This record gives sequence, C-alpha cells and structure tokens, in this order.
Amino acid sequence: MEKPFLRRFFVKEIVVEDGSCIITGSEARHIAKALRMGRGDRIILLDNQGVRYQSIIESVSPRGVRVKFERPLPSPSSSPIRIILCQALLKSRAMDQVIEKASELGVHYIHPFDSERTVVKLDGQRAKERVRRWQDIIHSATTQSDGRAPAEIGTLLSFSDLTTKYQKKSAMKVIFWEDEEVKDLKGLLRESSPATEVIGMVGPEGGFTQEEIRVAEQAGFTPVSLGQRVLKAETAAITMTAIIQYEWGDLSLDSPLIHSTSSE
Ligand code: SAM
Repeated sequence: MEKPFLRRFFVKEIVVEDGSCIITGSEARHIAKALRMGRGDRIILLDNQGVRYQSIIESVSPRGVRVKFERPLPSPSSSPIRIILCQALLKSRAMDQVIEKASELGVHYIHPFDSERTVVKLDGQRAKERVRRWQDIIHSATTQSDGRAPAEIGTLLSFSDLTTKYQKKSAMKVIFWEDEEVKDLKGLLRESSPATEVIGMVGPEGGFTQEEIRVAEQAGFTPVSLGQRVLKAETAAITMTAIIQYEWGDLSLDSPLIHSTSSE
C-alpha cells in the first residue's frame, strides 16, 4: 500500500507528556496559519535527537498546536562519517545555497570563515541576523530531507584562527585548491581507509592565496583538486559533501549506524 504523505515538522526536543505535546513558535504558526491544518490532521514530528512520531492534531489555540502521539517512527541512521565543512564567507545567495544543500547532504558542522580574498564582510548585528537565517535554512533542509539532526553552525572565524583551531584535530583534513596538480579528492578517499571525520575547507569567490595554502598545509590540511574545471565555490562545497558521502558516508541504502551526533 502506498504510504500516505504526511508533512514533517521540527521541534527542538520532543518531550512526551501523557502521550501528547504542544508545538509553539514558528512551527505552530506554520501549521495553523500558513497551512491551515487543524484537529484530526496527521503530521510527523521530529527533533534534534532523531526521535520521530506520527502524531495527530488535537487542537489549535493561541497557546500553540496540541498533538497526540500515535506511534514512534524509526530514526534515520546517522552517517558513518562526520563532515565538517569550512566555507569562506560568500555572497548572500551563494552562501545560502551552500548551507541548504550541504545540510540536505548531511554535513554535521558548517564553519564560516573570513579569508584574504573574502569580499563579504559581516560583523555585529548583521552577523547575528545571518546566522539566524542560516539556522532557519538548516532546519528547513533537515526537515525536507528527513535528516537525522540539523547541522550546527560555527562562529565566524578568521582563516588563521580556523586553521589553528583544527590544527590538532586528528581527522582527515583537506583544503580545496583549483591549482593543485597532484592530489584529487577521489584518489585520496580511494587510497585511504575510511576516516570517521573529514574537515574540508572551501575558499571564497576569488580563491585561496598561495600563502593560505601554505598555512593550511602546516596545520595538516592536504590540498586537493576536484578536477580541471574551476567550480564556483558553492558548487565545490556541495560536490565535496556529495563525494565524501558517496565514498565513505550514507549516499546508499546500507550505511551502518556507527556513531550518533556529538558536538564539533
Ligand atoms: N581563484 C579562482 C579564480 O578566480 O580563477 C577561483 C576560485 S573558485 C571560484 C572558489 C573555491 O572553490 C576555491 O577556493 C576552491 O576552494 C574551490 N574550487 C573550485 N574549483 C575547484 C577545483 N577544480 N578543485 C578544487 N577546488 C576548487
């Protein structure tokens, strides 16, 4: 029998009390005002920990949307590989695309950074607003893709603070460089045994400087190519995530559940 289509809604944490819970905030407004759903409509409720319930709306009021849990649903497995995407700040639309598509593909952590050729400058209030917007994009992408947990966003760092931060991490660390002539990502992943964590750094619209590549190498990052085409930064970030998930992660039907989410 065909599965009925049920809309998914995300809450921070599902707290089950007497078999029901109240959804508040933007998700409640979305259910009640935008979608005009009401008593008797069925939905799927999901949270940060991978908990999922098929639920039925009992009531809609100014306090929120009260739903009754009908049955728990299986959690999607987490990818066997944790991917940390370090992305140089891009113009608004391109950065939004990176955040959305990388979240859909299951990155665990997105770390924006400022580099020598970064043209977009964000500070103070604008930075806070942008992070809030990225979090909304991540939530929608995770809900849409039925992901296990939304990616986290790191605070904006300078290139040198970012490389220092990850210097001691014993993950596979790569920096994407269109001028790299020896190593490519595909070859590197195929010749190495699968790591549990990959940190990938993608540059801004104007690319990395030679000096930045040198500093990254000193911090343990291997420069890698994605082939001879010069890709837009957003294409490079999405391609990186897809390749890693394809080779070592969960772009298949039989990805093992090795670890659950933990913080960066
Ligand atoms: N500096 C270049 C130019 O203006 O000709 C372009 C930089 S590219 C638009 C932006 C970022 O995408 C780069 O910093 C790099 O991280 C990544 N990238 C694009 N194409 C790539 C490739 N073929 N191999 C590896 N990384 C690539």
